[in-house]
Amino acid sequence: MIEYENLGKVNKKFREELLKTFETVLDSGWFILGKNVSEFEKSFAHYIGTKSCVGVGSGLDALTLSVKTLNLEKGSEILVPSNTYIATILAIIHCNLKPVLVEPNINTYNIDPNKIDEKINLNTKAILVVHLYGKSCDMDPIINIANKNNLKIIEDCAQSHGAKYKNKVTGSFGDMAAFSFYPTKNLGAFGDAGCVTTNNESYTQILKQLRNYGSNIKYQNELTGFNSRMDEVQAALLKVKLKHLDDINSHKRNLSKIYSENLNDDFIKPIIDDNYYDIYHIYSIRHPKRDKLKEYLIKNDIKTEIHYPIPPYKQNATKGLWEGEYFPVSDEIHNTILSLPCSYGHTEEEIYKVIEVINRF
Ligand SMILES: *Cc1c(COP(=O)(O)O)cnc(C)c1O
Repeated sequence: MIEYENLGKVNKKFREELLKTFETVLDSGWFILGKNVSEFEKSFAHYIGTKSCVGVGSGLDALTLSVKTLNLEKGSEILVPSNTYIATILAIIHCNLKPVLVEPNINTYNIDPNKIDEKINLNTKAILVVHLYGKSCDMDPIINIANKNNLKIIEDCAQSHGAKYKNKVTGSFGDMAAFSFYPTKNLGAFGDAGCVTTNNESYTQILKQLRNYGSNIKYQNELTGFNSRMDEVQAALLKVKLKHLDDINSHKRNLSKIYSENLNDDFIKPIIDDNYYDIYHIYSIRHPKRDKLKEYLIKNDIKTEIHYPIPPYKQNATKGLWEGEYFPVSDEIHNTILSLPCSYGHTEEEIYKVIEVINRF
C-alpha cells in the first residue's frame, strides 16, 4: 500500500529533536505567549524576509485577522480566486465583507491576472491571492493592478512555505500574508497553528492585539479581539521543523521532478517555469476520467486525494452569494484534478511504482 500521506513517517525523521524540545517547554511551565513564540516569529520573519511575523491559532485565523486588520468599511469587496480552499473565502465572510470570485488560469491553477480588472469597482478594496499547491501567483501584474487601483494585497500562503517568484519568497509580496501550519502543510505543526507576516509596523501591533482579546497590556483592551494565540509547544516544535523546511521542500521537488519526467502525456502535469520555485505542497495532475483513475489506483493499492472535489461557489455554506454567476475554469479543475502521493515520507522507489501503475491506466 502506498499511502497519500503519513505524518508519523514524516515527523519520525526529527523525533529525537522534537522530544527534547517538548521536554524543555513542559519543564518551563510557560505555555502561552512566551519566548518560544517570539523566537519562532523572529526566525520565520527572517526566513520569509519580512520585518515581522505574528503567531496565531490557525491558518483560517491568520486570514481572518489579516482581513480584520485592514479595517475596511461595510460593503467593501475583496477579490479572491474561485478555486481556492473555502477557508480563504470564509475569512472574508467572517469580517462581513463581500468575496468576489475571479477565475484561475487553467495552466497554473492560480488567480488569472487578466480576469481581475473586469471585477474591480468602487467598492473593491483588496485582492486576496492564494499560492495554490505550492506555486506562487504571477505577482508582477497583480501588484501593478493593485497599485493602479489602490488595492491592498493579502497572500494566502497556507500551501506555499518557501515557494518563490523571481527569487522572492511568497509571504513577502503583500501588505500581509497568512500562513497555516496545519499538520499536513510543508511546515506542519502538531495541532493547529498559523501566522501572519508583514512589513507594516502598525499592522503588527493590531494583529498582536486581535489575537489576544484586543489587548497588549494585561487587562487593558483596545480592540474587540479574539483568542487566537499560537501556543508555546507548537512554536517550539515549529522552530525545530523550520530548520528542515528547505530539506522537506527539496525532497518534494525531487519527487515531483520524477513524476513530471516519467508520467506519460495522457496526464496534464503541473507547468514548470524558470521564474517560479515551486514547493509542491500538492503534486496534482489532471485527467478527463479522474474518478476512474482514482478508483483504478485504489485497486492497485495507491491512495490519492482530490483538492478539491466541490468548488466554494457550489457549497451550501455560500448559497446566494454569487447568484447567476458561472465559473467554468474552476469547474474544469475541480472535475479533473487528482493529487498524487508526494510527501517527505515517500521514497523515490514508491514514486516510480506509482508512475508505473498510472502509465498503464
Ligand atoms: C490549509 C489552508 C487554509 C487553512 O488553514 P487552517 O490552518 O486549516 O485553518 C487556508 N487556505 C488554504 C489555501 C489552505 O490550504
